[in-house]
Formats: sequence, C-alpha cells, structure tokens
Amino acid sequence: MAKDKISIVVPCYNEEESLPVFYDAIVNVSKDMKGVDFEFLFVNDGSKDKTLSILREFAKKDKRVRYISFSRNFGKEAGMYAGLSNSTGDYVAIMDADMQDPPEMLKEMYKTLLEEDYDCVALYSSRHDDYTFLRKFFTSCWYKLIGIISSVPQQPGARDYRLMKRKMVDAIVDMGEYNRYTKGIFSFVGFNTKWIDYIPPQRVAGKSKFNFIKLFKYALEGILAFSTTPLVISAMIGLIFCLVAFIAIIVIIWKTLAYGDPVSGWPSLACMIMFMGGLQLFFFGIMGMYLSKIYLEVKKRPIYIAKETEKDI
Ligand code: UDP
Ligand code: MG
Repeated sequence: MAKDKISIVVPCYNEEESLPVFYDAIVNVSKDMKGVDFEFLFVNDGSKDKTLSILREFAKKDKRVRYISFSRNFGKEAGMYAGLSNSTGDYVAIMDADMQDPPEMLKEMYKTLLEEDYDCVALYSSRHDDYTFLRKFFTSCWYKLIGIISSVPQQPGARDYRLMKRKMVDAIVDMGEYNRYTKGIFSFVGFNTKWIDYIPPQRVAGKSKFNFIKLFKYALEGILAFSTTPLVISAMIGLIFCLVAFIAIIVIIWKTLAYGDPVSGWPSLACMIMFMGGLQLFFFGIMGMYLSKIYLEVKKRPIYIAKETEKDI
C-alpha cells in the first residue's frame, strides 16, 4: 500500500530567527514518523527579512521543501489559503513557524486520525496566562457574542494548528471567498473535529505580529463573515423606535388638545434628535461594513499573488 503523505503548511512573515529551529524540529518529527511521506510547504507572506533566502536554502537541500513567496504581505489568512490550495498530501497540517504550535504533537494527531473516526484534530487553549486582563476580557466577550449571533459554532481559544484529511481541505479550498476568516471556515465546512487542549509555549524568537488593533479588526472580521445578526438587530431597534415615536405622537397630540401646552419640552426634543441621529449613523455604519465586504467580494481580487516558488530556483 502506498504511504500516506502529510503536507505541513507554514505561513511565515519575518520569521528568519524561528525558521531554522522550526525546520530542525519538523525534520526530527518526520524521522520519527517513518511510515509517512512529507511535504513542507512554506508560505512567505512578503517578509522583509531573510525568510525567503532561508526557504530557498531549505528547498535546495531538501526535496520535500516547497515554498510560495508572495509579492507583498497579504496576511496570515491568505497564507493559509495559498498553502492549503497548493498542498498535495492526503493529510494537511497548518503550523505557525514560531514553535507555538509544537511540531511533536503531530505524531499524536496523526495517530488519532488513523485510529479514531475523525476528519480533523485541532488544538485550542483553555488557559491564557500570557494574555493581559483586557485581552482576556475582550476575548471571552467575543466568544459569548459570536455564540449568540452566529449559527457557526466557534471553539473558544481555538488555534489554527490542526491536521485535516484531504476531503476537509478540499472543502475549505472550495470556499474561495476573498474576506477569509479561516477559523469560521473550518467550522462552517463541518466534518468531525477532535479538540485537544494545550498550553502554547512562548515564541521561540521574534515578536507576535498581532497587536491590539490587528486583533480587534480580526474579531470584527469574524463577526462580519459569520453573522448577519447586527443587521437584524438594527432593523428591530429601528422598528421599536418607530413604535415608541408613534405612541409619543399620539400622547402629545392628546395632551395638547386636552391641556393646550404647545411649546414645552424643547431640551428633551434636542436630546432625542441627537440620540436618533447617532443611532442612525451607527446603523448606517454597520450596513456600510457589510457593504464594504460585498464590494471587496464582487471585485474578485486575488487572495494572494505569488512571485516565486521552489520551481523557480
Ligand atoms: N503570519 C503571516 N502573515 C502575517 C502575520 C503572521 O504569515 O501577516 C504568520 C507568522 O509568521 C506565524 C503565524 O502567522 O507563523 C502566527 O503569527 P504570530 O506568531 O505573530 O501570531 P500569534 O501567535 O501571536 O497569534
Ligand atoms: Mg505565534
């Protein structure tokens, strides 16, 4: 029987310090997994450091190494899409280059897929000791919110580290949307996923590329991509306000006719106008955010542009 092949997809952005450590680790894992063929598919996401030249060196000395180098930085989501859509293995894993997704865990993950009835083994972290209080608070609020407003379940603390069977990978690649919130896509496609809890180690070198603003945008991305409830809520609130206004008009007309008091209440009126104006702008903003996603989607821009691959050397 032909050997199984595992593709390891590794998105890299300025990872010159982590890559040699990561490569050694993954090669060691491959030595322990003798019955399996490997493909190491690195995606250079427009790095400004020596990442690309390191990948060229890897590819020259190791035929299992492939790489796709982007023409600029397209983001980790695009990196994962490029990796998944170009992978050829029967199984595909996604791993960060910084050793926060320990390569040794792959052995256990592969064994699970062989022995148990799962299509995917994914990692999540239930503890976030390294997060600041604010990040912990916002993260837990986000998961509660998305649980209520989206029909696509999200595993709290989910990482992108996972090993999937080919069928699941094909389903993910078939979702060719431009605005990619991959954690949601993993969940949307279904398939049986086994979740393993672990504590991610510290980065082996370099710094995280995700600051507070980037994480906030990522969280918003997740909501816009997997829920239209904000639109429904704004429509409902609009309806409720119309009803309240209608009742208020009747009350005022009745009061004026009965007691004659035409000009009182200017301050409350001014406040109401401001409040309504603010609310309308807020809801227009929500609509605008969805509109901007449609705008980007219909343009059908490429998710990534490759400038070089291992075939070019
Ligand atoms: N990454 C990427 N493109 C980006 C940002 C990050 O390919 O624009 C890669 C990065 O090189 C790493 C992985 O995505 O392999 C996770 O990034 P990072 O470790 O900075 O994120 P964190 O672990 O802090 O969430
Ligand atoms: Mg990391």
